[in-house]
Amino acid sequence: MPQQKTYEKLVAAYTQVLDAYADMGYPTKDDDNFRETAERAAKASQEMVRPVAEIEQEVNDLLAKTFPARYDQMVISKHNICFGLCPHHLLPVVYRVSAAYIPKDRVVGISKLSRLIRLLARRPVLQEDLTHELAELLFSRLDSKGAAVYIEGLHMCMAARGVEAHEARLVTSAVRGVFTEQLSTRQEFLDLVTAAPLQLL
Ligand SMILES: [Zn+2]
Repeated sequence: MPQQKTYEKLVAAYTQVLDAYADMGYPTKDDDNFRETAERAAKASQEMVRPVAEIEQEVNDLLAKTFPARYDQMVISKHNICFGLCPHHLLPVVYRVSAAYIPKDRVVGISKLSRLIRLLARRPVLQEDLTHELAELLFSRLDSKGAAVYIEGLHMCMAARGVEAHEARLVTSAVRGVFTEQLSTRQEFLDLVTAAPLQLL
């Protein structure tokens, strides 16, 4: 069972982390609060990062059911709060993701669009890559006229350590198709999604 093997590896890794904390003087071996922490951390980690194959399957399932497009206006899923990990520090990132596309023949349900966004965020990937992958998916896989993605990320590696840039939000965007060609369409999207900045703290 690959899931079980992953779990065991994670428990072993977190046990080492707790060992290192003990070396630093923390009572990770005596204090009851640390009992089964390695196991809990392993489970949490498996919730934070899902296997690639599982994600691909779920993306396929989500995109398998589309509906005939009745209009060709912008479909937008705005301000989805979701979570991921940065690949540089394995620290959490809180994202606020807005994504839009302009249908050609098919539309995907708006709740599925939200699920798709949350699913793809939940990986150890760069925010820049997440942004482009989402745009590509909504453009190529949905065979739309165009797609746009705008993401604000609050990175714990920036907010809680190093420069402690509490206020810093990393902003990325990507456009495909008509959003690339028509400045007014791109501007309409940006106006809709940048109305209020990401406020979590
Ligand atoms: Zn980082």
